[in-house]
Amino acid sequence: MPELPEVETTRRSVAAALEGSRISQVGVARDRMLRRQPNPADFVRRMRNQEVVGVGRHGKFLMANLDNDITWVTHLGMSGRISLVPSDAPLVAHSNVVVTLDSGIDFRFVDPRTFGFVAAYTPDELEESSISQLGRDALTDLPRSRQLHGLLAGRSAPIKALLLDQRILAGLGNIYADETLHRAKIAPHRPGGAVASTEATALRRAIKETLDHALRYGGTSLDDLAYLLPDGRTGDYVDRLRAYGREGERCRRCGGTIIREVIRQRSSFWCPQCQQ
Ligand SMILES: [Zn+2]
Repeated sequence: MPELPEVETTRRSVAAALEGSRISQVGVARDRMLRRQPNPADFVRRMRNQEVVGVGRHGKFLMANLDNDITWVTHLGMSGRISLVPSDAPLVAHSNVVVTLDSGIDFRFVDPRTFGFVAAYTPDELEESSISQLGRDALTDLPRSRQLHGLLAGRSAPIKALLLDQRILAGLGNIYADETLHRAKIAPHRPGGAVASTEATALRRAIKETLDHALRYGGTSLDDLAYLLPDGRTGDYVDRLRAYGREGERCRRCGGTIIREVIRQRSSFWCPQCQQ
């Protein structure tokens, strides 16, 4: 699933291509992509002929502001990606949403599994959507160590599950939660409330370093190549992962063996020798 570094990498390309352009046509090939739109017929009507004023992001949500005060939201779901191509380029399979700009560029949302979605929200609808429940963004609004410690205090859930909870902190998914915990030397099953204040400091630093590092490489394209950059290149962080997907391999820090453990139905990869 695309996480913060993949969505931010996507956002940067999308912002450069879309900001200041006007939407001339909108095509939706799969109605399921509009399931979060209160009235699906609103989507195309609210998008067409509007100028894209800015393209932001909160956690894993891409949020474009249009000049009619509509927020165009895109969530990539499990396996969605954005392709930016000239409007006359041939359509690839599963191009479920195609937004054509007056600059001659298409924003194409390719999503074989249709777990992603798009919506065009009024300010009130945005306020009523799940987006308003998101915690602070892990990249642009990362809480200070003391605040992070406070968010975890008294919690009995495993720290791994808390890092995945988008209402606490928005942006981390399974890959970068494991990477962060490895960097911070914290075992994933530890209750959040048992994380000491010095560990919260290490955790905060690890979140920042992990996200910065992953962004430098354009995020992580796994073997399925579900995630690609908008120009079709792969995100090359996969070769630099420390824990995620490395079951049975040597820990890059201590030489121990990375194991896989299921915590709250999610695979967690970690090193029992150097993560406590
Ligand atoms: Zn280790």
